[in-house]
Amino acid sequence: MKLCSACLLGINCRYDGRSKPSKKVLELARKEVLIPVCPEQLGGLPTPREQSELRGESVVTRSGKDITENLVRGAKQVLKIAKLFDVKEAILKQRSPSCGCGQIYDGTFTGTVIRGDGVTTALLKKHGIKVVSEEDL
Ligand code: SF4
Repeated sequence: MKLCSACLLGINCRYDGRSKPSKKVLELARKEVLIPVCPEQLGGLPTPREQSELRGESVVTRSGKDITENLVRGAKQVLKIAKLFDVKEAILKQRSPSCGCGQIYDGTFTGTVIRGDGVTTALLKKHGIKVVSEEDL
């Protein structure tokens, strides 16, 4: 059993109201239980919503609104779900400010990628949960 970014499973939870289904993730879902989670929805943000990126320790929207609190709240809820089901591994969407694993956008909204983890990924890793991205499968 693993946690999985809901958008990778075809759930329309992304900022643009769409999903980002991954063929490899969907194939895996036929063989093992993948628990879909969307930390940004769990953090109280609507769908669709403004695009956001990590900028240092904060998460800001394209128009400059600080939504760090929402992403932190969502990350905590995802950790709660992981503990509830004793999940030790997660497959999360690469480069998202919540779900990015090893790569994120730099906060300038120019498509510039830097090294780093999303807020949820960082919290899960801190609690010993292995995180991989869909691109690592
Ligand atoms: Fe997908 Fe994660 Fe963004 Fe939700 S927060 S839409 S699960 S990448």
